[in-house]
Order: sequence, then C-alpha cells, then structure tokens
Amino acid sequence: MSNENSVMVYIQQDAGKLAEVSLELVSKARELADTLGVRVSAALFGETAAGAVPRLAGLGADTVYLLEDPRLRHYTPIPYSKLMIQTITAYKPQIVLYGATTGGRDLAPRVASRLKVGLTADCTDLKIGGHIQKETEYKNILYQIRPAFGGNIIATIVCPEKKPQMATVREGVMRMNKVDSSRKAEIVRIPSPLDSDDFPTEIIDRVLEEKTVNLKGANIIVSGGMGVGSAENFALVRELAETIGGEVGASRAAVDAGLIGKEHQVGQTGTTVRPKLYIACGISGAIQHRAGMDGSARIIAINTDPEAPIFSIAQYGVVGDLSEVIPRMIKAYKARA
Ligand SMILES: Cc1cc2nc3c(=O)[nH]c(=O)nc-3n(C[C@H](O)[C@H](O)[C@H](O)COP(=O)(O)OP(=O)(O)OC[C@H]3O[C@@H](n4cnc5c(N)ncnc54)[C@H](O)[C@@H]3O)c2cc1C
Repeated sequence: MSNENSVMVYIQQDAGKLAEVSLELVSKARELADTLGVRVSAALFGETAAGAVPRLAGLGADTVYLLEDPRLRHYTPIPYSKLMIQTITAYKPQIVLYGATTGGRDLAPRVASRLKVGLTADCTDLKIGGHIQKETEYKNILYQIRPAFGGNIIATIVCPEKKPQMATVREGVMRMNKVDSSRKAEIVRIPSPLDSDDFPTEIIDRVLEEKTVNLKGANIIVSGGMGVGSAENFALVRELAETIGGEVGASRAAVDAGLIGKEHQVGQTGTTVRPKLYIACGISGAIQHRAGMDGSARIIAINTDPEAPIFSIAQYGVVGDLSEVIPRMIKAYKARA
C-alpha cells in the first residue's frame, strides 16, 4: 500500500517523553485509516526518538517519518514547522492530526497557513463521510466535530477541497488502543532541512511545575459545583474523594467563583475525563460540564433539584442536600470497608 494519502499524526514529544494525546491520536488515526483503506503515518522529531517507534507501531502506525537531532530535544516553532511542512509536502497525507496542546496549537496554524489548507481547532470527535457542496459530491472526507457557540451546538466542519485536512484534537477525548506488540512499522528517516538559522532561540533553562491533580488517570472522581457553596465546604468533597480513593474535580462555575483551583476543572474548557465512577455533587449538569464527563462508566449525582439536567445522564441520583448526603456516604463506605 502506498505511503501517500495516509492519515498522519504529529507525535509531540519533550525530551523523549511522548504526549499522551499523540498516542490517543494514533489509535484514532488507525480507525479512520481502516475506514479509508490507507496507512497510518507518524511524524516524529526529537533528540533521540527512535525508541518510541515500537509503541507507535503497536498502537496502529504503519510508517514513522523520523528525524533525530539534539537540537530538537524541546519544541520550538521554527524548526518543527519547517519539518512538518517538508514531511507533508513530500509524503502527501490526506489528513494530519495534532494534539490540542500548547505546542500543537502553536504548530498546526503555522503549517496550515504555509500550506494554505484549512484547520479545525479543538475537535472532540472525527469521522469519515460524504459531503455535497455546490453540486459537487465529495466522498470519504474528514468530519471535524467540535462544540461551537459556547458549547450549545456541536458543529461538523469539513474542508473538502484542499488536502491535507487538518485538525487539532482535545486531550483525553479519543480512546487509546491496547498496544499490539506484534505490529511493526516502517521507519523512514527524513533528510534534515535544518540549519543554524532555524534555531534563533536557545533554551537555557526550563522550570516545570509538577501536576498535583491527575484527573485524566483517575478511576474515581468526586466533583463539586456551585452547590458546594464555599471553599471551606469543599473539604467535604475532598473527604469523600480521599475515603474512596478518588481525585477531586469541579465545575467551571466553582472554579470561577474561587472555590477550588482551575486544575480541578472538568468539562469543555477543562479536562475531559472517563473514570469508572464520577460523583457530581451540587453540579447542575450544563452541557459544557457534561461534555467533559459523560463518557464516565458510572455517574452518581447529588442535587437538591430533582429537575437538574445531571440526573438525565446519571445512573444513580440522590435528591438531597450534599452536606447531609456526603457524610452519610462516607459513613456507609467506612462501615463496609
Ligand atoms: C464557552 C463555555 C465553556 C464552559 N466550559 C465549562 C467547563 O469546562 N466545565 C464546566 O463545568 N462548565 C463550563 N461552562 C459553564 C457551564 O455553562 C455552567 O455554567 C457550569 O457548569 C455550572 O456549574 P455548576 O453546575 O457548578 O453551577 P450551577 O449551574 O449554579 O448549579 C449548581 C447546582 O447545585 C445544586 N445545589 C445547590 N445547593 C445544593 C446543595 N446544598 N446540595 C446539592 N445540590 C445543590 C443546584 O440545584 C444546581 O443544580 C462553560 C460555559 C461556557 C459558555
């Protein structure tokens, strides 16, 4: 099968550590490529990056376009965009996907404007389908799906006339495949177009703040909303989370009101989560909140309002005041543990 027309994923790495969203995207690219009957390719640049190839192959990549150069240890815009433009121009993928990370959001528009192709930012789903425009029928194009108008509608965006079709995709929304270690990928070492002029900035020092909250990796999340009432009352939400071994999440309204830090926010403009259990305490269930948690395996909602929208997606609902319900849940759990 030809390498042209592939579904390509830009693999984001930093000092050899791959971004999880890139691995999620290789998995999604595999599904799209199977629908189209084409290959999955990965564009991988870094100081020493070849070690990542077996993992990319195991997730679904058929070809890895690879360039190793000590100067590519960390992302900087000029060399990375030059490399992506060269790789896309040479190998002509029909679709290119980037994680909607800070780096992906910086890189993708640079590539799109240079190649004069469309780009849809922050997609939450991708599909393949047909489209008719001005009496022309386009088959097998990329549906780039994302919330629009404050999350009140879900827009499907197409760029049928130009290739590649490009999208950035939110972290955590695509499911990662299990690694199939029997899969192998072809490695294509690309020639380096880089010279010293491409590195006008030198990174002298980097200070990284460790993440204190790991919502994406949590099996259990106990989230609080405006119904919690105050920052002090969040202690109750934290106590329930600690008791049952979960992380603490929050609605945006609770974050905006200063009840808890932004790193706890779940939803369209926060983290997308898919835990085994999500307990929503005093959260109404606005569409923007649900967009980040409705993939949870089990949802329990506690709310004083029986008409709260959160109950429409919860498997278990408790109509009641969280200041009474949560202590009883903690007591019941401890009694059984
Ligand atoms: C562009 C855009 C992006 C957004 N992104 C996000 C996002 O990422 N995440 C997000 O969460 N929101 C987001 N929002 C905001 C969203 O629209 C809602 O405003 C927000 O989710 C509401 O938060 P809440 O449910 O905590 O508050 P409210 O809507 O005020 O709901 C509070 C709930 O608590 C219940 N309650 C009150 N007291 C108690 C009590 N004692 N015990 C039990 N229940 C009680 C009430 O009945 C009510 O249902 C976004 C909005 C926009 C426009």
